[in-house]
Amino acid sequence: MDQDARLQAARQRMVQDQLIRRGIRSQPVLEAMLHVPRERFVQTLDPEEAYSDQALPIECGQTISQPYMVALMTEALSLSGKERVLEVGTGSGYQTAILARLAAEVVSLERHAELSVRAKQVLAELGCRNVELVVGDGTLGWPARAPYDRILVTAGAACVPQPLWEQLAEGGILVIPVDCGDGQILERITKRSGRAVREALTGCRFVPLVAGMPPVPDA
Ligand code: SAH
Repeated sequence: MDQDARLQAARQRMVQDQLIRRGIRSQPVLEAMLHVPRERFVQTLDPEEAYSDQALPIECGQTISQPYMVALMTEALSLSGKERVLEVGTGSGYQTAILARLAAEVVSLERHAELSVRAKQVLAELGCRNVELVVGDGTLGWPARAPYDRILVTAGAACVPQPLWEQLAEGGILVIPVDCGDGQILERITKRSGRAVREALTGCRFVPLVAGMPPVPDA
């Protein structure tokens, strides 16, 4: 088998064994995950390792989320294809690529310029055009393009940052991992008549959402 066929087979196994078997039902989400080449977003010794059932380290001490978590969060957003989505925590850009296939447009914020630049390059190489990558502090959101129909935070927060809540459209959905006692819980919060309707989805473990920008590196 050549490399492309091996990676295609690895993607199929990932979808079957990690996503369908654990209850991911949304056909568009499964198709997106079958299509996006995860190995382009993470450097591993063997590209097939990119499809292993875990989060993996990327630059700047951050991680690319576990495939199942990406699928679960994406499914929780209930995308129809018409939405404007704000993602906080671009990281590798993998989740961004999945969102871009399922929504009208995606704005993605990342506080590490190095990660944002690299993600932008990979997304451009893959022909992903409906994304805007912004270097900035995601706890402030990105008011320039608000309101957003959906907001996805891919880093663990102590609570929902107020600016994100304000930038969420009426009827919109916010998915965010929130600290709780001894871990984090992934929450889906729907804005109904200006009020938050909260649902707990699962326990999880994300790198922390850090307010502010990283210090400027030494010359
Ligand atoms: N969706 C990404 C997950 C990356 S990990 C992927 O699967 O690759 C979470 C990312 O959130 C990290 O890259 C981290 O730098 C970023 N992050 C943490 N706090 C942030 C903040 N306040 N603003 C923007 N990005 C932030």
